[in-house]
This record gives sequence, C-alpha cells and structure tokens, in this order.
Amino acid sequence: MTNHSFLAAPAQRHVTRQVRIGRVRVGGGAPVVVQSMTNTDTADVLGTAMQVAELARAGSEMVRITVNNDEAAQAVPHIRDRLLALNMDVPLVGDFHYNGHTLLTKYPACAEALAKLRINPGNVGAGSKRDPQFAAIVDIACKYDKPVRIGVNWGSLDQSVLARIMDENARLAEPRDAGAVMREALVVSALESAAKAEEYGLPGDRIILSAKVSSVQDLIAVYRDMARRCDYPLHLGLTEAGMGSKGIVASTAALAVLLQEGIGDTIRISLTPEPGGSRTQEVVVAQEILQTMGLRAFTPMVTACPGCGRTTSTYFQELASGIQDYVRAQMPVWREQYDGVENMTLAVMGCIVNGPGESKHANIGISLPGTGETPAAPVFVDGVKAVTLRGDNIAAEFKAIVDDYVATKYVKKAG
Ligand code: SF4
Repeated sequence: MTNHSFLAAPAQRHVTRQVRIGRVRVGGGAPVVVQSMTNTDTADVLGTAMQVAELARAGSEMVRITVNNDEAAQAVPHIRDRLLALNMDVPLVGDFHYNGHTLLTKYPACAEALAKLRINPGNVGAGSKRDPQFAAIVDIACKYDKPVRIGVNWGSLDQSVLARIMDENARLAEPRDAGAVMREALVVSALESAAKAEEYGLPGDRIILSAKVSSVQDLIAVYRDMARRCDYPLHLGLTEAGMGSKGIVASTAALAVLLQEGIGDTIRISLTPEPGGSRTQEVVVAQEILQTMGLRAFTPMVTACPGCGRTTSTYFQELASGIQDYVRAQMPVWREQYDGVENMTLAVMGCIVNGPGESKHANIGISLPGTGETPAAPVFVDGVKAVTLRGDNIAAEFKAIVDDYVATKYVKKAG
C-alpha cells in the first residue's frame, strides 16, 4: 500500500515571507493555498454569498470577488455578514480595477470587510494620476491592516513600464526579442509596484505578487524570474486558461512545472465554466493538481484503469465515477470527524491483468471481472484480499466497505 510514494519529492520551496490573510497563511513555508473567484454580480448580495459559500465548501480557502462599482462596494460587508451567519469565515479578496481608490475611500466598510485587496498596476490610473491613486489604495490597506496582491496581467500591462523596457532594450548591443521584453516588463511592473507600496508604508509581509499570462511557456519563464528576484509570496495562475480540457491541461502543465520547482504559494485556476457548469470545477482542479503532485491532500483519490477490449461493459467506469463522487460528497462530513481521511487511496480496476496488483497498492481496491472472467470482484484492504463481491449490489457493498474503513482506520477528532 502506498500514498503516491512513487513520486519524487518536489524541489525545496522558494523561500518567501509569510502573509496572513484572515485565518489563512500564504508563503513562508505554509501549504500552497487554493483560491477561486466568483462570477456573480457582487451587488447581488445573496447570489454572491451563496456562490462564495459553494466555493468554500468545495475547498476554496480564499474567494475573490469583483468590486467594480458603488453597488458592489456597498454589498461587500453584507456578503461577509451573510457568510459569517452561515459560520463561514472564508477570507474575501476584493478585486479592484480603475476605481479602487475611490470605492475604498468612499466605502470604508468595504475595506474593513475584505481580507485582502487585489490591485492591478496596469490600470490603477493613467499618467500623473497613477501614483496618487496607487498611494491612496496602499494607505487604505495600511489603515485597515489588509494585505495586497499586486496582480500584473499581460492583458493590462502598465504601458509606461513596457515603453521604458522597450527603450532600454533598443539601446542594448544585442536587443532581446519581443517576448523577452514583454516578460521583463511584467516582472518589473510587479517588482517596482511592490517597492513603491513598501515606500508608501505597506509592510513587505503584507504583499503578494502575481504576473499572469495565458501562454504556458511564458508563465513558467515569468515566475521563475520573479522567484529569483524577490521573496514575496507568489500567486500562481494561468490567466484566461480557457474551457474544459484545454483550460485544465494548460493550467496543469504550467503550474506543475513551477510547483515542482518550489515556486508558488497560492494558486487559482482560471477556467471558463461550461454553460450551466459549476464554478467549483476550478477549485476541484486546483486541489487535484496539488494532490496528484503529492503537495497536499484534500479528498481520497480514486485510481482507475482506462479500460480496454478486456472490459466491454461500462460498469467499472460507472463504479469508479460513482465512488469518486461519493467520497467527494462525504468529505465535508468526514473532514470534521476523522483525521487523515483525505490521504485514503482507492482503486477501481477493470480486469484481472492489473486489477489485483493496483488494488493492493491502494488502501481499498476492487478488481472487477473483465469480459469472459469469472463474475467475481475481489476487494483488497491494505493490500490483503478481504472479500469477494458478486451479484447486482457490488457498488453499494463497496461503498459500505469504504465507510467501514474510514470509521475504523482514521482517528476520530476530539469533541
Ligand atoms: S486493468 Fe484490465 S481492463 Fe483495465 S486497462 Fe488494464 S487490461 Fe484493460
């Protein structure tokens, strides 16, 4: 039996300061934090509070909400209060663009209710307005003791920084290509804004940086560079990752490389939801990236074979999917009752070729009969064959074995 012990350990974490966001710690060796963002109209207090609660229940440890106008800023404290009434103290992050200085000044209750402010140096203000507006937001962050994420994005890169870096590049004996110039401008924009925030009085341990792009290779290059040049905690995410498998694969490809190198202190997966799909998918993907890399554990993982010509029925696919859904649904209850249950591993295999072997590597594994095999499904518990299931009730009996294992193997939490 093993818990991903075949994985080599990730590189040592990039050493950063630690930032406190409500009850959450980011950086400084703390576990990588999962966060997400709502897509409701923030002015809709009930709708936004419900979606924040849904994301938090799915495992989002911070939730960002857009604060884009007076109505949204006025709604923020009410959203926070509704969440507290539900006994959910998930830290809320306010996302500000263009008018953050005005909204935060006009609505101090909004500033007070938020656990963190996110500002984008590319659109905090143009020309001579930029610095005073940036300073105004930093002043409010200092006054209410709120950390700030300085979140650069290549879609809204500070054009004055880009122009300066381009000019400097043009004077080089061997100018760099346009991609390298853009990446340098992203990193410089983040670092210079952080330095300016510190100059305006924000303590260095109240700053998190991000510099998001939508190209995997550019993101890896930018974050490697940023990690080398600063010790602020880094918020990782591939911006505008896209929809469905493309968004998941691109985000995973980029983040896995960086996390394996010890870079990244909090992650957000910017998936476009399928029409009618749940916003919580981005939380599940973030958790699964961290868990499959062996960095954190959130929910028991189900190993399942892909199936082949040896298993012509879809029964094992249905059982694998059903048991993954079941353990995910049970986790909110199990998490409160049992210590370590998130580390449990399950295997659902389609035939005798790899079925018993893979099942023995899991805490609980079931090897279903392939086409032409005896209609019997041996179940292995901690590497030992425990029982053989037959008949039409295998799924329910397997769930019962899982429930029994959880209740007997994991330490009950006190109280
Ligand atoms: S375990 Fe059996 S059914 Fe599953 S992929 Fe391997 S050979 Fe095919």
